[in-house]
Amino acid sequence: MRLALAQAAAAAAAGEVPVGAVLVRDGQVIATGANAPIGRHDPTAHAEIVALRQAASTLGNYRLDGCTLYVTLEPCPMCAGAMLHARLARVVYGAPDPKTGAAGSVVDLFAQPQLNHRTAVEGGVLAEECGRQLQDFFRGRRQAQAAAASPLREDALRTPASAFETLAPAWEGSYRADLPALEGLRLHVVDLPAPRPAATTWLCLHSPTSWGRRFAGLAQALHAAGGRVVVPDLIGFGRSDKPKRKAFHRLAWHREVLAQLADALALDKVVVVAEEGDQALATAVAAALGPRACGLALLPRGPSQPADALPYPDRGHAAGPQAFAGGWLPAAGESAASAVAAPDTVHLGAGSAQEQARRAVEYFGD
Ligand SMILES: [Zn+2]
Repeated sequence: MRLALAQAAAAAAAGEVPVGAVLVRDGQVIATGANAPIGRHDPTAHAEIVALRQAASTLGNYRLDGCTLYVTLEPCPMCAGAMLHARLARVVYGAPDPKTGAAGSVVDLFAQPQLNHRTAVEGGVLAEECGRQLQDFFRGRRQAQAAAASPLREDALRTPASAFETLAPAWEGSYRADLPALEGLRLHVVDLPAPRPAATTWLCLHSPTSWGRRFAGLAQALHAAGGRVVVPDLIGFGRSDKPKRKAFHRLAWHREVLAQLADALALDKVVVVAEEGDQALATAVAAALGPRACGLALLPRGPSQPADALPYPDRGHAAGPQAFAGGWLPAAGESAASAVAAPDTVHLGAGSAQEQARRAVEYFGD
């Protein structure tokens, strides 16, 4: 079931409802399936069907005698029917599905005395974890929908989405406006979920002359190595809302926004990734996270992106970059760097995103 949960996490990462399945025979994994109807343009591409198809193809047989299917959610009538057709020996599911469950919640196709084949059913295995994964997904989607529609504050600007459409690689996550520290501003966050629990989380903070997409290559490499990667566009940058007044951009305020984001996303085992010479905010965030932070991973200074290369070239949008031209502004009476002990730090050095990711994982683990 843990493997099925990982498949479900992969489905969520692809924007699908997180349901995962694993097909096992004689203790061997024969096939896996992640829910994918949207991506495959296929209403039948439920996790179970994907796994059944793969298993039948691997075994060269449409009968799957002696196989057990593990799935994170109670099967629907379509999948239950397919399992009976496949003569599956046993199905084990996690959370019940009160809307379309066909193993007892709405109907029980496995208990029809008229049907020939008997597939044994066991429900409720890791039910809480399986259910929570679905709840988290739907809550996140509701929040993102609400945030995407959130009104713009009068003292802020919002770069039109069209400015980002031609960018390659695309850089698009979701919005949130629910953090109290945001005071109604809309924050853009790319969140690549880890394929398994207790993975390292890489929280990537761009420099004052850049935005989140700066991490596109490294984020993919760290995610491929098994980590969770979270990349906010700091307020004032990229797809996030941009207050017009420079005074908005205090280090302590940005730190508070990021600390609240970390709480809201339940981030743990966090390594903050930033650029060398620009780690004041990263250090402050690591301190705010306390024992949930593992340390810092520092990249060589990236090329400063000229304003006209950024997708927010007008003057109002320059408030953030201008405010931080000389580094993040400490609040009155606050020293940016000296207030906290230096966290455990690794310098990732020059090289490709893959090489930098490998060094980061070697140092902090995955
Ligand atoms: Zn189904």
